[in-house]
Amino acid sequence: MEALIKVKNIRKVYQMGEERIIALDDVSLDIQKGEVVCFLGVSGSGKSTFLNMVAGLEKPTKGEIIIGGIPIHTLNEENVTLFRQKNIGFIFQSYHLLPMFTAIENVSLPLIFRGVEKKKRDNMASEMLAAVGLAGYENRKPSQMSGGQQQRVGIARALVGNPKIIFADEPTGNLDSHTSKEVIEIMMSKVREHNITLILVTHDKDVSCYADRIVTIQDGNILSIENNKISKGV
Ligand code: ADP
Ligand code: MG
Repeated sequence: MEALIKVKNIRKVYQMGEERIIALDDVSLDIQKGEVVCFLGVSGSGKSTFLNMVAGLEKPTKGEIIIGGIPIHTLNEENVTLFRQKNIGFIFQSYHLLPMFTAIENVSLPLIFRGVEKKKRDNMASEMLAAVGLAGYENRKPSQMSGGQQQRVGIARALVGNPKIIFADEPTGNLDSHTSKEVIEIMMSKVREHNITLILVTHDKDVSCYADRIVTIQDGNILSIENNKISKGV
């Protein structure tokens, strides 16, 4: 079967005055539908750069990114935004919730962009909050929730639009190890249940254990790819 995501020889060079920073040197990888792939590497190794390019948030200096047959590196801003809204969910290290919005309003946001009407949005968002264990928290604002609860809201928001692919950049980076495990297990169970392709970026080996494949990245290149047969797939 053809890979859902094909990354071909991508390179990203940032020019900072006189200095050229090679954030990604030459990275190629195919990712199958429903696969959970973890990018593991120390800070500065190029993980976020990789993720941002595959998600169409940045253009590579060289190379191709083809998702479901669409060469997303060639799309203009408007089309890439539409592509993201339709196909992609994001989970961030610092949650990126809107502080003045309640949990249900935060989860509803992707549906507003899709033009779903209010009543349906509220139903879908509250169902998704319940699915991540937050029934009863609909009207809490981010400041009234713990870090783990805020990240569950982040997961619900990523899932609510029924994306084909989720990108998670250090999703447990701000959480203690116990909460981190809870959050990762909720994320994994939802991803498996809906056969979503997950690209997960972390510096934490314990988090990488949940993936089907672990791609170790160092200085902008893939150092190794390990099939994780004992993935803690929930
Ligand atoms: P990681 O997510 O693995 O910590 P990044 O992908 O953020 O690493 O960064 C890889 C390298 O590229 C680092 O040296 C970083 O300083 C550099 N870099 C990232 N983004 C930019 C940018 N917008 N401008 C200049 N350099 C950048
Ligand atoms: Mg990063």
